[in-house]
Amino acid sequence: SVLIVLVGRPGSGKGTQGPVIAERLAVPYLSTGDVLRAQVAAGTDLGRRVSALINRGELVPDDLMVAVVAEALGDTGKDDGYVLDGFPRTLAQAQVMERSDSPLGAPDIAVHLALPDTAVHERLVRRAREDGRADDADPAVVDRRLRVYTDETEPLLDHYRRRGILVTVDGDQPPD
Ligand code: AMP
Repeated sequence: SVLIVLVGRPGSGKGTQGPVIAERLAVPYLSTGDVLRAQVAAGTDLGRRVSALINRGELVPDDLMVAVVAEALGDTGKDDGYVLDGFPRTLAQAQVMERSDSPLGAPDIAVHLALPDTAVHERLVRRAREDGRADDADPAVVDRRLRVYTDETEPLLDHYRRRGILVTVDGDQPPD
């Protein structure tokens, strides 16, 4: 069963393409952002710990995220395969996955949805209207998330390129 991770800026289409890819390959789709927002909405302990971070556009700590993904994958872990949207977002998260004892498994394919910085704001303004995400509506928070992407997440591209599993797709096109 195939293990796929999606990498791309906020608004690059991970949440649009992820479910399509997952359905085509008959593997689960998991968005860590969706999981965290559901926890915030439900008012759980985890939700209370992460809501301020999400609203500021900061990352949730790596150890917490690894636990969240392991829990969300459930008992079968990586055995059913997956399409992960929003994880890993740091090199440390990617390295944890690759440890031989990790229930998350090392990805087979990393899909980079390439979208220029300049296209992000327009897409997120639209998503803020449609989905009501507070972290999309505030331009300062969007800027913060873009900076976090550049600093923390973009290094994953070289990491996966070196491993020979990076596939880059032009994300600046209509979804189909
Ligand atoms: P997303 O829906 O992927 O844009 O994620 C929304 C927010 O959830 C991010 O801005 C982070 O605050 C948090 N988040 C989601 N996935 C991760 C992750 N892998 N590591 C750290 N924070 C995350």
